[in-house]
Amino acid sequence: MSGVAGKLFVIEGTDGSGKSTQFQLLCRAMTEAGIHHREVVFPRYAEESSALVRMYLGGKFGSRPDDVGPYAASTFYAVDRYASYKTDWQADYQAGVPVLCDRYTTSNAVHQAAKLQGDEREQYLRWLFDFEYRLLGLPEPDEVFFLDMPAQKALELLHRRQGDAGDIHETDHEYLARCRDSALGLCARCGWTRIDCAPSGTPRSPEDISADIVRRVMRALGR
Ligand code: ADP
Repeated sequence: MSGVAGKLFVIEGTDGSGKSTQFQLLCRAMTEAGIHHREVVFPRYAEESSALVRMYLGGKFGSRPDDVGPYAASTFYAVDRYASYKTDWQADYQAGVPVLCDRYTTSNAVHQAAKLQGDEREQYLRWLFDFEYRLLGLPEPDEVFFLDMPAQKALELLHRRQGDAGDIHETDHEYLARCRDSALGLCARCGWTRIDCAPSGTPRSPEDISADIVRRVMRALGR
């Protein structure tokens, strides 16, 4: 990639871990600090480029996440990211504007790697990062915050939020637990920052969690 790059910050976590809540709080803190930035949420369900993601989550290729291989599923999300980058925020990013993302390539790493184990998982991760960051030319995140919410708590939060039935990821509880394990492995492997959201089993308040994230982002931006 050429040119001066901005900084890319990613909020990551399993379903119901509080990503959307933390993303909004981080965006608000940036705005209040007067920092010009871009805000990007994945997948972009309202866009054409997410058609395959919607088919997958809607169960068109099978009713369980494991019915669709990690390589196929990863490409669905990656093309949406490519479309977003090229049509929306590449110019700003390259001009040095900080970009905040609610999920990113890192969501493929968490949710699709959970379908594999051992050597197959590592082989998949190498393929994924090479595919998105090198071959598709998407920028690598500077910092990834993994919201570590215990699977049972995340499920409770998800149920509190939802009136609807949930997609094929959200309704498979065993798979959600595997995703958390996969994410903990990624924190160690890739140097993601693990944010302990429920140290004693009870979730911390959103504002308390946010303070950790905002502090780190501001430090990375030299503020
Ligand atoms: P995600 O985007 O990861 O699926 P959300 O941010 O939508 O998760 O959070 C799921 C639900 O839990 C929402 O109703 C949200 O208001 C609530 N929530 C998020 N974080 C917390 C928290 N730390 N404590 C209590 N409730 C939370």
